[in-house]
Formats: sequence, structure tokens, C-alpha cells
Amino acid sequence: MRQPSPSNMTISAPQAGAEPAPDFTHVRDWIFDLDNTLYRADSGIFAQIDANMTSFVARLLGMERDAARLVQKQLYRDHGTTLAGLIAIHKIDPEPYLDFVHDIDLSGLAPDPMLNGAVARLPGRRFVFTNACRNHAARILEHLQIADLFDQVWDIRTIGFVPKPDPAAYHAAMAAGGIVPAQAAMFDDIARNLVVPHELGMTTVWLDCQSEWSRQGPEFPVASDTHIDHEIRELGPFLSSIGI
Ligand SMILES: [Mg+2]
Repeated sequence: MRQPSPSNMTISAPQAGAEPAPDFTHVRDWIFDLDNTLYRADSGIFAQIDANMTSFVARLLGMERDAARLVQKQLYRDHGTTLAGLIAIHKIDPEPYLDFVHDIDLSGLAPDPMLNGAVARLPGRRFVFTNACRNHAARILEHLQIADLFDQVWDIRTIGFVPKPDPAAYHAAMAAGGIVPAQAAMFDDIARNLVVPHELGMTTVWLDCQSEWSRQGPEFPVASDTHIDHEIRELGPFLSSIGI
């Protein structure tokens, strides 16, 4: 390792931890995505949902899994979610799909005391905004022991089965919550889901979970740094550090 020269040592570099805390004092409404945001992506929970989606598509279209997965990902890219694509193209009933894909084992998921404490200290109202269904959200939030910390859950039914990142989804959610965007912050692990909230005036936080889907995508709409106010790797430590 290179040792600092005496001259370098006299130049004061910024000290770790010396940066001011991110300023969230303007935020009164806290809006969180659910899957891979309020729990870690490496918990394997969403991987189960993803695999169930592949199984559903394979069964629906009579395909092998590899081919069905390509179809599934194309639907996701083009329609925001696999479900939205299946509704638009294959006219499926969403309810059996939602039951099927969310039939998962939560034993690998554990409450995160740091995250739970950090969410509990946020002033104002707290919301969950998910493209999944409310039954799944309720089950996850109960399992994580944070269900009581949220004022409302906006799910795919709340937004009329038109998912994030479609602008209509955000307008429906904001109407449901009476949200003033300039006083709201939104947290999501999918970068493209933060484009519209940022344009509306929300403070946006991207939880980069280093996954294939997290950085998606160039397809629609383009997620760029200009739509992300804060880029983080872990939610609990970040929420514990912000100025509120
Ligand atoms: Mg997510």
C-alpha cells in the first residue's frame, strides 16, 4: 500500500463520515417499493416469485421454461410487469396469476431491526407502493414485523393494473394518498421506476441491489442519474443517517 508523503499528510482530504447528512427535512410522505426494497434482494424471496412467473407463462403458453422465460422478460420490459403484458396480450384474469406467483416460502426472510427502527422514526406518513398484490404485501410486511408502521399499501389493484413505471400508476397512487410530490420521497430498487416520480418533483432514492433488473432499463423509460437523487446499497443504514 502506498504511504502518504509528508506533503500529502498536510493536505486535509475529506474525512469519512464528514459529509453532511442527506437532507430529508422537507419530506412528510415516505413511499417505499416492497419487493427487494423493504427486504434484501439476496434473501431469495423475489427469486421464488420470478420462478413462479416463468412457470405460469410456461403453462399458459405451453412452452419449455427457457422459452417461457424469454417471453416473460420481454413482457416485463415492454409492459412494466409480466402481468401487465399477460393482460394486454393474452387477456388473462389477474387474480389466479397473483395467487400463483406469490405462493412462496418466507422462511428465508427475517426482520431487520435496524431497518425497522429507521422506518419507525420517519416523521409523517409512510406508504408501500408495489406492482404486486396487497395480499402478498400484507404477508411480507407482517413477516418483517413492520405492517403497523405503514399508513397505506398501494398495490396493483389501487393503480388499476397499470404498473410502475407508467405515469398513470403514480397519478393513481398519489390520488389515493393525497400526496404532494415536493414533500414526498420515493424508494425503489428499479431505477426506471424513479423517472416519473422525479419529474413530478419527488426526492428519489435508488436502492441498487446489483441485479439484472435493478438497472433496467434502456427499454422504457430511460433511467439516468438525472432521475436519481440518492443512490444507495442498503436501506437501513441510509434511513438511519438522513436528516429528518
Ligand atoms: Mg422492487
